[in-house]
Amino acid sequence: MKKGILSAGLLLIYSRLFCWGFYMHQQINYHAVFLLPPQMMIFFKPNIGYLTEHAVDPDKRRYAVATEGAHHFMDIDHYGAYPYRDLPRDYKSAVEKFSADTLRAYGIVPWWIQTMLGRLTKAFREKDARLILKYAADIGHYIADAHVPLHACSNHNGQLTNQQGIHAFWESRVPELLAADHWDFFIGKAAYIEDPPSFIWARLLESAAAADTVLRCEREASLQIRPDQKFAFEERNGILLRQYSTTYALLYNEKLKDMVERRTRQSIFAVASLWYTAWVNAGQPPLDRLMNGSLSLADQQEYQLLNLEWKKGKVLGRDCGE
Ligand SMILES: [Zn+2]
Repeated sequence: MKKGILSAGLLLIYSRLFCWGFYMHQQINYHAVFLLPPQMMIFFKPNIGYLTEHAVDPDKRRYAVATEGAHHFMDIDHYGAYPYRDLPRDYKSAVEKFSADTLRAYGIVPWWIQTMLGRLTKAFREKDARLILKYAADIGHYIADAHVPLHACSNHNGQLTNQQGIHAFWESRVPELLAADHWDFFIGKAAYIEDPPSFIWARLLESAAAADTVLRCEREASLQIRPDQKFAFEERNGILLRQYSTTYALLYNEKLKDMVERRTRQSIFAVASLWYTAWVNAGQPPLDRLMNGSLSLADQQEYQLLNLEWKKGKVLGRDCGE
């Protein structure tokens, strides 16, 4: 019996990898709501359940749409060395230089966030509650992904340095262990972003610059711990799982000097600030009379389909965690 449980646990070890993990994406969108001014809070707070639940739709979409994966990352080191001046920040110029296919192959997250910002701004302008919520949830996901160092690095799961699994270790295991009881989500207020493209690129470049540290700290931690202490069978959501041990995760977090918490807080600030910026740029439409954004029948069907594909569990295109 015990053996059965153990092998089930082995099968479950990070068999599903998600950007930031489902838990953290939901936490980030949830906490972002509390940074908004009252004129926005009046609409966003009653819909906080939607924004939280749908924070992970873009990851589910990767199971249904082959082109979705490119929206979540950029292997920016493909374009040379930091700060990657060879890569034009403007999409059109970048296409002219490298072709749209090449850009997609190495990920387009900074441009995709700008597309989402345009859509969200339009939805505010048109006071379309349903689309405001949809794009707000989506842009929250993509800008949060841009804060993850391994989303800005071609060695995205440590596959080039024999550190496979590090992606989920950083973005899922560490936060799931620490966020609820130890992290501070009191962040202040959303800010208006004067120059969204520069803001978005700056976050991605920070991630790219931090990727080395993410990899180096894990290497150092692995030398400091006995191989048999690295993994452990520990309970998670009532299931016994073989995963990075608590001891190892805490050691890693210590070496990172709380980087995961810092990037989480910065993600929350960025999400709220992009929402706020879209609303301001749309002319600050009053949101108090908008309906509560409940899903239309077509939306419900699309969402059901998304969940169905996701449950089948096959990512189309590249999985950003593997
Ligand atoms: Zn993602």
